[in-house]
Amino acid sequence: MKTIGVLGGMSWESSLEWYRLANERVRDLLGGHHSAKIVLDSVDFAEIEAMQAQGDWDAAGQLLADRARALESAGAELLVLCTNTMHLVAEQIQDAVGIPFLHIADVAASAVTSAGLTTVGLLGTAFTMEQPFYAERLAAYGIRTLVPDADDRQAVHSVIYNELVHGVIREQSRQRLAEVIERLIAQGAEGIILGCTEIELLVSAADSAVPVFPTTALHVEAAVTLAVAED
Ligand code: GLU
Repeated sequence: MKTIGVLGGMSWESSLEWYRLANERVRDLLGGHHSAKIVLDSVDFAEIEAMQAQGDWDAAGQLLADRARALESAGAELLVLCTNTMHLVAEQIQDAVGIPFLHIADVAASAVTSAGLTTVGLLGTAFTMEQPFYAERLAAYGIRTLVPDADDRQAVHSVIYNELVHGVIREQSRQRLAEVIERLIAQGAEGIILGCTEIELLVSAADSAVPVFPTTALHVEAAVTLAVAED
């Protein structure tokens, strides 16, 4: 089994879920006392959040590229970045290491394509919904991305940064996001990408009339599949 390098802490609430799901998946696949081989580098989210707010993506990319190098030196044989938003600087991270980097939007796109869908609604931070990096990555797979309107984007962003990254789960917010999903479906979304690693801590398939694509769970599944594969 290969060692997975996990670049986490963005936020630790979702990295914890990533870690738990990865170990459960390895246990289910290999049985016995097996668990995932992981090296984890968990950043201080306050530093990243400040850089996001200032639009200093280059500094954030530099910081994460340094951490990625540290993971490779620590023995990581493949690399995952446990946040959708910070894939905005995926290229900087990928260029810093020699090990394979498993892009979360590629994983989401594969799941959408396997489900036979071509138009999805995207929920995530304002950065993920408004900047082109995520939708463009999906477009490379022939997937059309719909995003919520400005009010709804603000609501989703606020639930992420003011609640979910602090471990706060509110029924009222779950309902608000379910309404956003309903409007995306009315616009033509055939599936909903939960394109923020914390959203699946709040929203599930039960909140949507079309299939949802939870990026933390899908990312884990793809990474563990690679880790346990024979060379
Ligand atoms: N974990 C979130 C994501 O998947 C948001 C936190 C962050 O900005 O990294 O986008």
